[in-house]
Amino acid sequence: AFIVVEGGDGAGKTTQLDLLESWLRSRDVDCERTREPGGTPVGERIRSLVLEHGQGEVDPRTEALLFAASRAAHVVQRIGPALEAGSAVLCDRYVDSSVAYQGVGRGLGAEKIAELNGWATTGLQADLTILLDVDPTVSHQRRAGRDGGPGDRMESADDAFRTRIREAFLSRAAGEPERYLVIDAAQDPDAVHRQIRARVAALLPA
Ligand code: C5P
Ligand code: MG
Repeated sequence: AFIVVEGGDGAGKTTQLDLLESWLRSRDVDCERTREPGGTPVGERIRSLVLEHGQGEVDPRTEALLFAASRAAHVVQRIGPALEAGSAVLCDRYVDSSVAYQGVGRGLGAEKIAELNGWATTGLQADLTILLDVDPTVSHQRRAGRDGGPGDRMESADDAFRTRIREAFLSRAAGEPERYLVIDAAQDPDAVHRQIRARVAALLPA
């Protein structure tokens, strides 16, 4: 199964992926853990390139194409082969992030970005997308307690931008409720994990 975790910065995606991966491994499920942008040698180079620049510093079309390029390599070289080998693929961000950040956040248009990424991925969709939904002011406070570093390109973004991102994710989820699990990520991490586990258990062979 192809499982994606999405959400704004500071929603707890990495923490939840760690918990999910440990739980699946404890049940002897083969897992391929990966992330976007990144996940392949070319993708990781693209990741460093993009993350060197703050939100808004790279021309939006350039940025959208770089994320899509990273994703195209990821699908062909890593996600596709892992799924064919029967592994569960656990991915930190996928197409919805591009639709939210570049499509809506940066104003390129949700449909345009969805179309670009449909091409880049040859239409490969997640079996389940877990959306960790949280008020940007809450996640911003969480992030303030963390190290900055090159992943922190949202530092220069404002609340209105973060709110648009959040609404874009929610709107994608609302359009396809059977493929999404939306969780209130302001809850404590264990409570979030339990909800994820319940849903993922249903996807796995008994
Ligand atoms: O997921 P992660 O926190 O590693 O993402 C790195 C940074 O790239 C974040 O600040 C995120 O907001 C940004 N990003 C973006 N557009 C995407 C995906 C991530 O601006 N499509
Ligand atoms: Mg993260």
